[in-house]
Amino acid sequence: MTVVVTTPTRTPRLPSKVKPATIGARTKGRTKCTPAKTPRKTSGKAFALAEQAERATYAQSLFDELNRTIFAGHLPVETSLVWSKRLLTTAGRARWHRSKEGVQTTSIELATKILDSNERIRNTLSHEMCHLACWVINKDPKEGHGKIWKSWAAKVMRKRTDIDISTRHNYEISYPFEWECGNCAKTYGRFSKSIHPERVVCGACKTGMLHPLFTVRSRMATTPSKSGRRTIATSPRDPSSDPPRGVQWG
Ligand SMILES: [Zn+2]
Ligand SMILES: [Zn+2]
Repeated sequence: MTVVVTTPTRTPRLPSKVKPATIGARTKGRTKCTPAKTPRKTSGKAFALAEQAERATYAQSLFDELNRTIFAGHLPVETSLVWSKRLLTTAGRARWHRSKEGVQTTSIELATKILDSNERIRNTLSHEMCHLACWVINKDPKEGHGKIWKSWAAKVMRKRTDIDISTRHNYEISYPFEWECGNCAKTYGRFSKSIHPERVVCGACKTGMLHPLFTVRSRMATTPSKSGRRTIATSPRDPSSDPPRGVQWG
């Protein structure tokens, strides 16, 4: 079995906790004549890990390449690319810090749950590299998305037609689990089955019941009781904003 992980957006996204269907495992014992030549079990977790490893490799090689071709190698080679599962508010975040001794530290945080394709990695990583360029090359720690940043972004896009840099990262997060309000049709997305329709109602209209848009196994379906339901927040949990140390931009 060949696992193709080159186009992550098209592959079905299994949440890591969900195990693959067990049907294959049950029928396996009956087919004695054709033993499987390749290991059958590719767990969702292993798949996700392989996919993530591939993205990290891609991001690092892209960083090195852009640093060489656009920034003349002036961005610190030791800039760490940090993949974060908790970063949900923005696709990427650049950080720059200089100690009293003048030692510069640079890092770029990348949102694992948003950057699910090479295209998104290209656009986001290059956006963040432009921030680092302003701080490290132009030595302007006050620069955000101003003139200097824009000129770097323009340079990247001139040389790389496959990269599109905007001042914002407007990416929708694709959630594996979604619920829809039966009253106002607002949808709620989560990374796990953390919404319990029997306990909550829609936070937008305050009355609607939420229906899962994914398949619910019948034994899990419960008859909701009308009493004691609270409303649900209309957006995923609030971003935890880290206190800035040095400069940080999304
Ligand atoms: Zn509603
Ligand atoms: Zn930015």
